[in-house]
Amino acid sequence: VTIGVARERAPGEKRVAATPETCKKLVALGAVVQIERGAGSGAHFPDQAYADAGAQLVADQAAAYGGADLVLCVQAPDAASIGLLKSGAALVGSLQPQADPARAEALQARQIVAFPLEKLPRTTRAQAMDVLSSQAGMAGYKAVLIAAQLAPRFFPMLTTAAGTIRPSKLLIIGAGVAGLQAIATGKRLGAQVEGFDVRPEVREQIESLGGKFLDLGVSAAGEGGYARQLTDEERAEQQRRLGEHLKSIDAIVCTAAVPGRPAPKIVSAAMVAGMKPGSVIVDLAAETGGNCELTRPGETYEQSGVTIAGPLNLASSGAMHASEMYARNLLNFVGLFVKDGAIAFDWNDELLAKTVWPERAAA
Ligand code: NAD
Repeated sequence: VTIGVARERAPGEKRVAATPETCKKLVALGAVVQIERGAGSGAHFPDQAYADAGAQLVADQAAAYGGADLVLCVQAPDAASIGLLKSGAALVGSLQPQADPARAEALQARQIVAFPLEKLPRTTRAQAMDVLSSQAGMAGYKAVLIAAQLAPRFFPMLTTAAGTIRPSKLLIIGAGVAGLQAIATGKRLGAQVEGFDVRPEVREQIESLGGKFLDLGVSAAGEGGYARQLTDEERAEQQRRLGEHLKSIDAIVCTAAVPGRPAPKIVSAAMVAGMKPGSVIVDLAAETGGNCELTRPGETYEQSGVTIAGPLNLASSGAMHASEMYARNLLNFVGLFVKDGAIAFDWNDELLAKTVWPERAAA
């Protein structure tokens, strides 16, 4: 089996789908790995390290994809790149085929066996392949660092000759994978951290990280461990209590999401107006519209004394470790169907059957 990996084409994307470490393991599985020169440079993996790992360096994307039975990527290739794939090849990455009709069409035209990893069931067995989780961890970590950087305050408490500085109060909205990492990071920086989520079971997880669960009296556990949408009444009650509480908060990191939907709007313009001057909001949900009504995706600006940041693709800003984790996720997934140097899909394996796109008719 020949595996192709190219430099990511999306603007600002520094991650790479295979590292020297995972290339070595793919080669050990009997694969020939074709990697485009410079593919790892954004994440600081030099070409020589790939060569030392047994990968074959090739000049460009066409050479990496040409003849490859399997292509690994971070973000979905555009339609032109998909045109370089061998007909019938397998493609693994964060593909979001439904997000772009041209992409979906290109994939189908070339009969690509696509595995959009965001469709992977979130079972225990799938954890080692879960790119949503590994990348959310980096994003949550970076979001808190950005909040600390933008804040005109210290995060920790300081007792100094110039008097005592009170610790910053940090609120993390949404305590999934990114939110829990944000809570842990905020604690390490010495902030007083609170976390809040509509899934009641996260209280324990927040507390185990040393955070405090902010109880707004609303619970909305949905299917498959995800949140469901709130009813209008639930939302109104949540909003009223939250607005009151935010008057005492110095920094907010927003991470709330509902799969397949725009981000829930949780922090209103009126709530921002009620916050203390010098407060900071870092809205990780900016990619899907933001949890704060005032978030401008990709921008940082000040509104009535509050700095609001809507960073995009934070995982890429930690490209080295994000790639290490992403590439291991991919390696583990590829291990489901590459054996003895050949591809063999077992469609009875739910991790393959539920992830493949387009969906296969049941056998
Ligand atoms: P996500 O990115 O979809 O959402 C982030 C968080 O926002 C979630 O915790 C959600 O409950 C919360 N949220 C949604 N609407 C909200 C609202 N109106 N107000 C406040 N919070 C709101 O979630 P995720 O981080 O990808 O994962 C969610 C959960 O799935 C995890 O915490 C975990 O329990 C489970 N999970 C399981 C596995 C596994 O077993 N393989 C892997 C990853 C995640």
